[in-house]
Parts: sequence; C-alpha cells; structure tokens
Amino acid sequence: MNNKYHFNEFEKRFESKEIVCKYCNSRTMGDPEEQYYASIYRVMNRSNIIIKRTVEYNEIKIGIPRCNDCFKIHEGGKARGGFYTIILSILALGIFHYLFGEAVVYALIFIPIILAAFLPMGIRENYAHKHNIPTEEAPTKDNEWIKSLLQEGWSTKRPEV
Ligand SMILES: [Zn+2]
Repeated sequence: MNNKYHFNEFEKRFESKEIVCKYCNSRTMGDPEEQYYASIYRVMNRSNIIIKRTVEYNEIKIGIPRCNDCFKIHEGGKARGGFYTIILSILALGIFHYLFGEAVVYALIFIPIILAAFLPMGIRENYAHKHNIPTEEAPTKDNEWIKSLLQEGWSTKRPEV
C-alpha cells in the first residue's frame, strides 16, 4: 500500500519505517509501540431507517515516528490532564455544594463533563510546548499519505450514527 510503512497484521496498524522522530526531529525512533497512531476513517455504508440508524466505516491507523523521550512527554501531558480534571472537578463540586446545597446533584453530572471537554486538551498542549515539541496530532497535518487519503474522502473524525 505504501512502502514507507510496515503493516502490523496483529495490531491492524501501519507502522512507520522512518528512523527520525517527527516531533523533535533529532532523536531516533525505537519501539513501534511508541509511535503515535492517527486514526483515519471512511464511511462505507450508512442507513437511515426510522427505527434504526447505522453506519459502517473503515478505520486505518497510520504511525507517526516518535522517539522514547517525546513519547514520555506526551504520556506525561495526558496523565497531568486527567489528574487536574479530577482535582478541579472535586474542587468545583465542593464549591457548588457549599453555595447551592442539593443542586450539587446536577453539578455532579455537568462539571466533570464540561471540564473533561476542554481541560485535558489544553494541558496536553501546554505540556508538549513547554518541552518544545508539537502535540501528538500536529504532524498528521504534514503527513503525505494522510493528506492524500483525506483528499480521497477519508476523514480524521470517527463517523457518527
Ligand atoms: Zn522525539
């Protein structure tokens, strides 16, 4: 399909054969497990019957070469994103409970959802930039194969029913 990649039958993904990390552009890539895998989708069939809506799609995963250091920075950003989301949710719930008493039941549902929608992404970005590397997703925009797939009608968004 593309000779710059090796298809891993078991993991169902295309592992990049490139040596240099696409994030720091200096260190060399090691374990394919540490590559970033961008998922690309294409709708094959969509049905819209009143009682049942379905969508069938293909998904392929394309590896972006990443060294161990950059892998650790990205993982560190994700861990911090999750941690701060939980801490801030608890804090916000405490304040809500203090201010509104029983209304905390509703806040319990919405606060973590709202925080989880924005906070982890911002923290991940901030953490990567602090270490002078782009976010995990950033190099997918420059990837020639991904770009050509997008032109053929593939999408980076998972199709919704
Ligand atoms: Zn790197």
